[in-house]
Amino acid sequence: MNLRGKERQEFPLRIRKLAFVRCCRNGSKPGIPQCENCGNVLRPGNIEYEHLIPDGLGGEPTLENCGVWCRVPCSKSKTFSEDNPRMAKADRVLRKSYGLTSKRQQIKSAGFRKAEPKHSATRPIVRKSDGDNRHV
Ligand SMILES: [Zn+2]
Repeated sequence: MNLRGKERQEFPLRIRKLAFVRCCRNGSKPGIPQCENCGNVLRPGNIEYEHLIPDGLGGEPTLENCGVWCRVPCSKSKTFSEDNPRMAKADRVLRKSYGLTSKRQQIKSAGFRKAEPKHSATRPIVRKSDGDNRHV
């Protein structure tokens, strides 16, 4: 279970079968399974029933939300470049909204080196006769 409180829901066999039939019919080569994203012919082992709206963001395991995609590159690139960042952000917003974040750590710097204690002014002040104080 994730922070958003839902168990992952895979597509039931019935939905996967209907989606597979759909991807065989709708492509440019009828009867051959083709990726519904890029149109490439799907090879055994390189097929993914993709949640178009990610499961973690409320995407239901329905036929409308099921895309028959090639695992590489289509599904992998969507998962890593779109879905995971969106879900990570959803988690961050949730954690922040409900006070589930840890206290911010202050970054400790080395600071400035302590100066030697000074017992006199850097330069002696020379007083002129006209009363004008100037550093020499
Ligand atoms: Zn594809």
